[in-house]
Amino acid sequence: MAVNENLRTPIVSVMGHVDHGKTTLLDKIRGSSVAEGEAGAITQHIGATEVPIENIVNKCGDPSLKDRFIVPGLLFIDTPGHHAFTSLRSRGGALADLAIVIVDINEGFMPQTIESLQILKRFKTPFVVVANKVDRIHGWEPNKNSSFLASYNKQSERVKSDLDNKLYEVIGELYNIGFNSERYDRVSDFQRNIGVIPISAATGEGIADVLIILLGLAQKFLEGNLHYDATAPGTGTVLEVKEEKGLGTTIDTILYDGTIRKGDIIVVGSLGDPIQTKIRALLKPRPLSEIKAEEKFQQISEVTAAVGVKISAPNLEGALAGAPVRVVSPETVDAITEQIKSEIADVQIDTDSVGITIKADTIGSLEALVNELKKEEIPIRKASVGDISNRDIVEVTAIEDPFFTVIVGFNVKILPDAKEKLQSTDVTLFKNDVIYRLIDDYKDWVKKQKELAE
Ligand code: GDP
Repeated sequence: MAVNENLRTPIVSVMGHVDHGKTTLLDKIRGSSVAEGEAGAITQHIGATEVPIENIVNKCGDPSLKDRFIVPGLLFIDTPGHHAFTSLRSRGGALADLAIVIVDINEGFMPQTIESLQILKRFKTPFVVVANKVDRIHGWEPNKNSSFLASYNKQSERVKSDLDNKLYEVIGELYNIGFNSERYDRVSDFQRNIGVIPISAATGEGIADVLIILLGLAQKFLEGNLHYDATAPGTGTVLEVKEEKGLGTTIDTILYDGTIRKGDIIVVGSLGDPIQTKIRALLKPRPLSEIKAEEKFQQISEVTAAVGVKISAPNLEGALAGAPVRVVSPETVDAITEQIKSEIADVQIDTDSVGITIKADTIGSLEALVNELKKEEIPIRKASVGDISNRDIVEVTAIEDPFFTVIVGFNVKILPDAKEKLQSTDVTLFKNDVIYRLIDDYKDWVKKQKELAE
């Protein structure tokens, strides 16, 4: 067997509770260390990192493994600080084909861990759980960059049994929310037998095992999903809308099908009508060794899925994180513009005539919030993407039902004039970056209001 030319690179997202080690793990995988401030590592970030199969098998110290795998590598979404990005969509469903759920083994499951698992369940995404920070187990002897078992075998009996107990706690917690799991790599049926892999993102122990297991999952469960057409017009999702010096507004994009070229006309989702524009430049980060201050990126003429790429084009100011990006031709432009418009509207009109008002930072996160609120049977009057504005507050003050004079904001800011306005109204604002906390806070508040009214 060898790499199959018809299959694209699987897209992987890393999810988990804040501080459990997402950034450290991605940095380690990227082979650079943002945490240690290596020059250029932050500035040339484009939201996704490709790890070719050769690098993965070399990391494992066994190049012959290459013949066992048919995908060209792994593409990690590494947009920092956005666990909500894991619910980003492609046309077919979730943008990520695979996921890593990271949990600090010394702290156990936390709200964002559970939230991540529920999202994966909903999208039926195959995933592994990594139990991170094993080096913090008292008495642990680090074994840098080795496979996990090699590290484990070197530890004392006491340390091994401490780790074993902590792993069984993780497995128990997974079981509590409806997943069966097994230690290490005995993964036979995704979402029924979840692999739990102990690692240290700090020392690198176990990371090679994680990469190999992800390749195995891709091979076992995704072959049918990874077919792509290199001759098709490019189709992707916006990860981040960013200002770049000398380039203006750019969009960091994951291309998951087809090819995209400099000069192509694209349609990009926005809050208003979709944007039509022409690609001025396609950019990739320059290798660290070649970085010059004014040239962080190198221009390329075309790229083929799956890949992360920065797009520079006029009029991208209104582009929306999480929205579709499609290459169009004069024949397809109208139909695709309509399609993108309705994809974005879908999320926003799926609401009730009375209910709360919600805001979120991306389409994916808004959709996740809408889903969770619906499960709790909390009615939603209006759901939209963006920071909380003065207009949002004014609209809510007009609502008569006291339980619905509420704005729930997920991963968003409150704009300065809205902050001022809020103080002179009865509108109640809940803001958090954990969906569960938002829902709990709202429910507690309703309960209190009801008690007060009695
Ligand atoms: P994130 O919020 O999930 O992205 O978490 P970070 O990657 O920022 O990690 C939070 C903190 O935990 C940082 O201070 C990291 O240096 C530390 N950390 C992450 N992974 C490990 C690990 O494997 N071992 C140890 N000892 N510290 C870690």
